[in-house]
Amino acid sequence: MPGVDFSALQGQVPMAWVLELVGFVPRSAAGDRLRGPCPVHGSQWPRSRSFSVHLGKGLCYCHKCGFGGNQIQLWAGVRELRVYEAAVDLRHRLGIDMPWIQRRQERPRGAEKKKNPRAPVDPFRGYV
Ligand SMILES: [Zn+2]
Repeated sequence: MPGVDFSALQGQVPMAWVLELVGFVPRSAAGDRLRGPCPVHGSQWPRSRSFSVHLGKGLCYCHKCGFGGNQIQLWAGVRELRVYEAAVDLRHRLGIDMPWIQRRQERPRGAEKKKNPRAPVDPFRGYV
């Protein structure tokens, strides 16, 4: 299974999009910092300012429930998904291409130093 290039995905998904998806309504703003009710634990008071967002850094933190993370982790927290699932879900919702990391096939420890016995042999070796 290919891995998700989370840092690339973070670059493609602005924090503001995810805030809109989770229905975050800021109660105060100072520069690129927002405060408002927490979408993760679901603040009871609409005027709550427990949830703090730094748009420039793409990070958020709740002073009440202690949740903190980037926009993908925020989506995972609100939707109760694993981060991987949240990344796939965001990609579907926002219609963006997933930046996959192509992993090499995992090999048992110690096998790295040996030559791959199944490496293709040049069929023309000795004939050219
Ligand atoms: Zn919270």
